[in-house]
Amino acid sequence: MGLKNNDGENMMTDLLSSAHVHTTFCDGKSSAKDIAHAAYEKSFVSLGFSSHAPQMFDSAHCINPSKEEDYKDEIRRLKQEYKGRMAIYLGIERDLFSCSEADDYEYVIASVHYFKTPDGRYIGVDGNSEALQEYINEYCDGNGIEMAKQYFSLFQDYVCESKPSIIGHFDLVRYNNSILHLYDEESLEYRALALDALRTMRETNALLEVNTGGVARGYMLEPYSAPFLLKEWKAWGGEVIINSDCHDLKLLDAGYGQAIDILSALGYDHVLRLSSDPSQGMWQTVRL
Ligand SMILES: [Zn+2]
Ligand SMILES: [Zn+2]
Repeated sequence: MGLKNNDGENMMTDLLSSAHVHTTFCDGKSSAKDIAHAAYEKSFVSLGFSSHAPQMFDSAHCINPSKEEDYKDEIRRLKQEYKGRMAIYLGIERDLFSCSEADDYEYVIASVHYFKTPDGRYIGVDGNSEALQEYINEYCDGNGIEMAKQYFSLFQDYVCESKPSIIGHFDLVRYNNSILHLYDEESLEYRALALDALRTMRETNALLEVNTGGVARGYMLEPYSAPFLLKEWKAWGGEVIINSDCHDLKLLDAGYGQAIDILSALGYDHVLRLSSDPSQGMWQTVRL
């Protein structure tokens, strides 16, 4: 069955799901209650909340550590409220430098959003471009590709050690590249760095995210991960999940049509999503 999403794209209703959703518990604009209601109204089959896990810095972007229990309580309450109508899951987006435990969550999205300097400062990968350039000048010999190398190395080690359910926006390092022109994304050097890290992560059996958040917010032309990565991921037998990284209930499924087109063109015949029936397991296959 088909319907149109916010972008006017044709959508398969089976794909109306996102495991990557932020709320006012972290840096999202919409409350968890309002997001759940909007998702239900849009005929979502499942919904996973994934607030940014508490961290001891850049606190405006994450759950306040004193509110982490409130977050869990609210999502569990919504899970009960929508039981039998829309499956809701309690997840977390856990950064490499987060200070939160993952045990209480049904799934974890692992992400790297920061570099840590030797003097203890945190510099955003997808933050202020001038701060990132200063980091590159100081800690990467002014070399953008060295920064990308550090990013993929940190991410690879984090995923292999923590074994998350989902690899979040794998090539977020591209975020500032259109402004700073740090390296050529088509170059063999960059591609080899990214592919080597991804190949190693594949061994954990984590799902690779096709993250439409950057497209939805207008600063990327196509989702993370780039097609050359998705192509190899498929060849290695990896599974993907389409997520909106939504920070605003208006963008719950923004960019999904493009993501499906990219995956189909690469030969993907299915994706995974959060299960519409938790008694049948956590993840379900959806044919494209
Ligand atoms: Zn993120
Ligand atoms: Zn996110």
